[in-house]
This record gives sequence, structure tokens and C-alpha cells, in this order.
Amino acid sequence: MTKEKNNREAFLYLKSLKESGVKEVLVERKNAPKPKPAALPARPVWSDAAALKAEPVSAETQAALKALREEALKCVRCQELSSTRQNVVFGSGNENCKLMFVGEAPGRDEDKQGLPFVGDAGKLLTQIIEAMGLKREQVYIANTLKCRPPKNRPPEPDEVANCRPFLEKQIELINPAMICALGKHASQALLKTDIPISKLRGEFRDYPGPTLGGIRIPVMCTYHPAYLLRNPAEKRTVWEDMKKIMKALA
Ligand code: SF4
Repeated sequence: MTKEKNNREAFLYLKSLKESGVKEVLVERKNAPKPKPAALPARPVWSDAAALKAEPVSAETQAALKALREEALKCVRCQELSSTRQNVVFGSGNENCKLMFVGEAPGRDEDKQGLPFVGDAGKLLTQIIEAMGLKREQVYIANTLKCRPPKNRPPEPDEVANCRPFLEKQIELINPAMICALGKHASQALLKTDIPISKLRGEFRDYPGPTLGGIRIPVMCTYHPAYLLRNPAEKRTVWEDMKKIMKALA
């Protein structure tokens, strides 16, 4: 069959379709280049420093955090804590972090050094962060209370309420993609709930405080590293929670 004859037959066939009311015909072109499959988005490598690199925060945010820190250093809202503390432990780390850890309150070592999580529990937290493929300098660490409660007693509700504006402003300025609350007191204070930590942990929940532009910040609650020092079998549980954070951030 010649090419001419083929064309003629095709023409007659299309004409007959048109006459019978068909308005559109899909034609598959022979030898047409096949569309390329869409490229898969590059999956960030969790341990890649570029994924969570320390970028400088804006000068405005830096100034606001500095002013907030200075305000906290002079704070005497909690009469007992301000009269017994050695240092106010405002928080430390990458102010442009994606992941922020929030603990309960400074302990003896933290009070002495003015830095969060520097004692044995802090060392374990560093190990957890590194097991996640991160460096401690890539995250930000703060506490619900900025001053040490005497003898490491649990924070009183009025102390949590007094210190809450500092933490809320800190979170708003740092604007992390995710928060990990460490332990019962931090989790309950952060989420404004009295649900037990055993029920809070393991699932993302929404941070109920003010956020930059009203964006949603997921909170993963987990056990406190100090609790893990007493109950090493629960390390596995915490690791399950950390894996959820790693997956969500990656
Ligand atoms: S715990 Fe917070 S609110 Fe209380 S005195 Fe210290 S900085 Fe102020």
C-alpha cells in the first residue's frame, strides 16, 4: 500500500467521522519523542550540613533575641528562683535552626555555667543529636524555665507562667521548623496540657503559642535525657521519636 493511498484512506475515514458528529480525535504520532519522566526531587541528606547549616539570622532577629536575653538576665519575676540562681540560662545554639529542643529547667551544672544541658543529661542529649546525624551547633536548646529551681525540684505552675513569655518570644524569633519537648514538664508546659508524657510522646502535636506569621510548628514530645539515665531501656522509645523527627524534617 502506497503512502498516498494510506493518506487518502485516512482522509476519508476522518471525513466520515466528522460527518457522523465526531469533533475531536486523538492521534498518536509515530516516533514522537516520549515525554521525560519528571525528575524526582532531590532527597536531602539528613547528615549533610547544608540541610541544617548555621546561616546567620537577620540583624533584626539577632537584636531582638539579644534584647530578650538581656531582659531575662535581669528578671526577678520568680522571687525564689531569682534569689537562688547563679546564672539565668537563656538558651544556646543555632538561632537559625530547623530543630529546637525545649527542656524543663536548668540543673546544677547549667546554673553554674549559664548554659543549657551541659551536665550528664546534656551529654546524653548531645549523643542523641549526633545519632540523628546532626551537630549540637546546628540545633537550638532552651528550657521552659530560665532559672534553676532549688534542689532541681519540678517547676511550679506560677514559675512556668512567669517564664512563658520568654520562651514564647524565643520560639517566635527563632522560628524553628520543629520543636522537640524533653520530658513531662517541658511537654506539658509547652502544649498547655496535663496529659501524661507517656500519652503525649510519639506523635506530632501543634505548638499552641504565637508563631512567626501564624505558621504551624509541630512538637514532638519525648522522654527527658535525665529520665533515660535512670531508665536506659527507654532509649529505644526515644529513638523511635527521634526517627519521626528525622523523617519529617528530611
Ligand atoms: S524563671 Fe524565668 S520568669 Fe522566673 S525569674 Fe527566671 S527568668 Fe524570670
